[in-house]
Amino acid sequence: MNFDDTPQEAALRRRAQDWIAANAPHELREELQNAPLFSLELKSVDSMTAARAWQRKKAEAGWACAHWPSAYGGRDASRLERVIWDQEEGVYARLSQPFSIGVGMTGPTLMAYASEIQKRTLLPKLVNGEEVWCQLFSEPGAGSDVAGLSTRAVREGDGWRVHGQKVWTSWAHEAAWGLLFARTDPTAPKHKGLTMFFIDMRQPGVSVKPIRMMNDKRVFNEVFFDGAWVPDTQRLGEVGGGWQVSITTLMNERLGSGVPTGFEQLFQLCLRLEGDNGPLVDDPAVRSNLARWAATASGLRHTLNRALTSLSRGETPGPENSVGKLATASTLINITQYAMDLLGEQGQLSAAANEHGGGWFQAMALRSPALRIEAGSDEILRNIIAERVLGLPGDIRVDKNVPFDAIPTRGRPG
Ligand SMILES: Cc1cc2nc3c(=O)[nH]c(=O)nc-3n(C[C@H](O)[C@H](O)[C@H](O)COP(=O)(O)OP(=O)(O)OC[C@H]3O[C@@H](n4cnc5c(N)ncnc54)[C@H](O)[C@@H]3O)c2cc1C
Repeated sequence: MNFDDTPQEAALRRRAQDWIAANAPHELREELQNAPLFSLELKSVDSMTAARAWQRKKAEAGWACAHWPSAYGGRDASRLERVIWDQEEGVYARLSQPFSIGVGMTGPTLMAYASEIQKRTLLPKLVNGEEVWCQLFSEPGAGSDVAGLSTRAVREGDGWRVHGQKVWTSWAHEAAWGLLFARTDPTAPKHKGLTMFFIDMRQPGVSVKPIRMMNDKRVFNEVFFDGAWVPDTQRLGEVGGGWQVSITTLMNERLGSGVPTGFEQLFQLCLRLEGDNGPLVDDPAVRSNLARWAATASGLRHTLNRALTSLSRGETPGPENSVGKLATASTLINITQYAMDLLGEQGQLSAAANEHGGGWFQAMALRSPALRIEAGSDEILRNIIAERVLGLPGDIRVDKNVPFDAIPTRGRPG
């Protein structure tokens, strides 16, 4: 593997750096830098206004989705170019969070399954931040086993009537559109009775109720469908072919994992924090932990580089992304807990009240556990690695080829 840029990649990197230097909202840099990961709550400006402005600016200059076809708001660039942009965007990427599901998951799904006119109408508005998208897959009774979902779409004239409930739907409170995974035939085996649609989120039969996370942020929601309407023209793929469509969406979700480990923040903390015998970074016990996590962080960087190498060859990264996401989540959690221990009672204070910036770790202690669940839980990723990398036997699936409405549910809605 050669991790150096080719001359073309180096030139592109310089172009990206120059454009960011000239156009990024530098007045927000410090606030974005100090904000905990996965959080977009700016105090100096309205967060959504700032997010939309940055997204629009990027779209106008062709950076927002450079790897998409120009007819759909992109610039016909390679996926590797996209990766170089992601590496250079740095802290400003945090402004893109409301659009991440649209750009990363629902956009590629529309690209593969929507009609030409739908793609030309919807995708540019997604790229420039005009319309936020959400992903309506998980339900109270279906998460890892998403094929067990029970939200029903029932045929009515030239469309479908939708009843049911989704949960953990990120950004539904801002969304104009949702990618809806629904059951259209409960008498078919569970993977075969599913159909994918995209649905107008701003209609009377859709209600969105924010869920407050334990870090007091409101990023995801419950979504209730009470007779909401989807025209059949907004069906993606065949009736009963939703499982195939969902694989396109989820493959793109797994491609997106490149989350920091918190090592850099821990190292900076150990430089600042004084122990009994000077800065903690000089303490042998602390140094030993730092060395261990430096090695992990470096291993993760190279794992990501393997995925990038596949991309540069035009291939789709395989299970290495599962390894990366699995190890990153636990490393971030372990580093956060260690930093909280080092900080002692200071670790309980928010960033504003804490001279050592320990509030960053406090915020991460409250947010990072969700990383082990979202985009594939640790156990599911381990199953993927076991089955697809190590070739171990798969889970025993007792509901295979059984009609969905004949699967025992122990009182849960079927
Ligand atoms: C921050 C965040 C954002 C999210 N955003 C969205 C979103 O925008 N849209 C959306 O649709 N969903 C979203 N989700 C939901 C997410 O996809 C689900 O939480 C996830 O798939 C797990 O499903 P579950 O919560 O129902 O847990 P379950 O699937 O019920 O799992 C419970 C436990 O059982 C384990 N388990 C389950 N099956 C197996 C198995 N076969 N073998 C071994 N162990 C197993 C799991 O690992 C877990 O520990 C989000 C979740 C989080 C945390």
